[in-house]
Amino acid sequence: MAKYILGIDEGTTGARTFIIDENSNVLGLAAGELTQHYPRPGWIEHDPMEILTVQYETMRAALRQAKLTPADLTAVAITNQRETALVWEKDTGRPIYNAIVWASRQSTPVVEKWVEKGLADKIEESTGLIPDAYYSASKIAWILDNVEGARERAEKGELLAGTIDTWLIWNLTGRKSFVTDVSNGARTMMMSMEDLDWDAELLEAYGIPRHLLADIVPSDSIFGDIEASFGSPVPIASVLGDQQAGLFGQAAYSPGQCKMTYGTAGVFDINVGAEVARVDGLTASVAWKVQGQKTYEIEGVLFAMGKTMQWLRDDLNLIHAAPDSEWYAGQVPDTGGVYLVPAFTGLGAPAWDPYARAVIAGISNATTRLHIIRAAVESMAYQTRDLVDAFLASGLHAIPELRVDGGAVKNNLLCQLQADILQIPVVRPRISEATVFGTMLLSGLTTGIFESLDHLASQWQAERVFEPQQSKDWADAHYHGWREARELTMGWTKKIGQEI
Ligand code: ADP
Repeated sequence: MAKYILGIDEGTTGARTFIIDENSNVLGLAAGELTQHYPRPGWIEHDPMEILTVQYETMRAALRQAKLTPADLTAVAITNQRETALVWEKDTGRPIYNAIVWASRQSTPVVEKWVEKGLADKIEESTGLIPDAYYSASKIAWILDNVEGARERAEKGELLAGTIDTWLIWNLTGRKSFVTDVSNGARTMMMSMEDLDWDAELLEAYGIPRHLLADIVPSDSIFGDIEASFGSPVPIASVLGDQQAGLFGQAAYSPGQCKMTYGTAGVFDINVGAEVARVDGLTASVAWKVQGQKTYEIEGVLFAMGKTMQWLRDDLNLIHAAPDSEWYAGQVPDTGGVYLVPAFTGLGAPAWDPYARAVIAGISNATTRLHIIRAAVESMAYQTRDLVDAFLASGLHAIPELRVDGGAVKNNLLCQLQADILQIPVVRPRISEATVFGTMLLSGLTTGIFESLDHLASQWQAERVFEPQQSKDWADAHYHGWREARELTMGWTKKIGQEI
């Protein structure tokens, strides 16, 4: 009998549902958009009830498209936007405030207070993260501090809190399962990376009661079943945060295997094996716990990847659509010494400078818009080398190749440049949806559709391999120029006395 997997992909801009068979053929795919709420500058929120409605609609639509009913499914898999967090009433299921989205800055003062209390070292040591409002802990604390009566109600046990995976599971299982997986837990700034459990000392220091939080379980657990919401007892058999799901979907099961996702932002993740590892400038995290084995990762986030193409398109009107960048950039052999460093909102990993602002350096009379567009495409490749070099400096593992995914990797010029600048092959997989496929493949492993990780690794296929075509001297000289340009961006708002 055919086996079918339903994959839930709950993202920041929208919700999608995929249905695949055991040969990874896509039989159903539905997508819906989410409303972004911006109550104040720098704040981003979602309506948690809308997340459920939109997700459920896409689940029904994907089933209809595949001509299947829930009873035909073998497994449900979840991947989700990480860090986004909410608090809700245990009895009614009603959120007491919107979900605060990962990118939202409203809880910055909460984190500053924690840092003033001297918690920074403890946080980094236990969770692998550098204290920031990006992670879930301060968002939950902010809700408890700012919604009237919330702290009291939390103490009395009337409330629950969690990340988006937990919210989906609790609702899909008819409020029976209150759990999260280790990859999501790792992004809350509350989980000990060694123990894969909440860090009691941190919870105490944050003022977040343990009974507010879900149990943390392995990524290949049976998280409950969807009978209450979809009428059939289909197990939720995999949960992975989006970036870890991407790493899993790229079949990066061995240390040194890595992926780079070129979306609006850019995210590099590398498998570092069964022990926690730390690398200067990058964050340490948990990749997954699967078949009883813990796997750790190192991650680097770049704030502007495809974002730079959107800027060229929407604000400078230099291109009509992001894919046009490939044609324009290909009209010139090089940038003529121009570098574009897209530090629009500061620099993320590995330089971490909130005061940095973007520059276009090296403009001469001969510079045309073609050079600027090419410099923008090249900036994606140089930023990736920043991360790869930061990792290689640790001496932990060699990086034999880079597996790539995300919207911008359709750009062949970008992939070739990336191989040239890194001096390693860049491999684009046949299945471009690494994230949702990652969690769906894992649920297939949990439920016995696929026999082993080795089997999954053997199924992974390259669509195209980009071999370096330039010399190492060429790569180093061009990268040197980038580093000089990057230097120019640093500390900018401080230098000109502008508030950030
Ligand atoms: P996300 O999931 O982060 O929204 P996607 O993975 O869908 O992003 O990728 C979309 C991003 O990729 C956009 O920022 C877009 O500008 C960029 N992009 C899409 N196609 C290309 C292309 N051919 N060349 C360069 N950038 C592209």
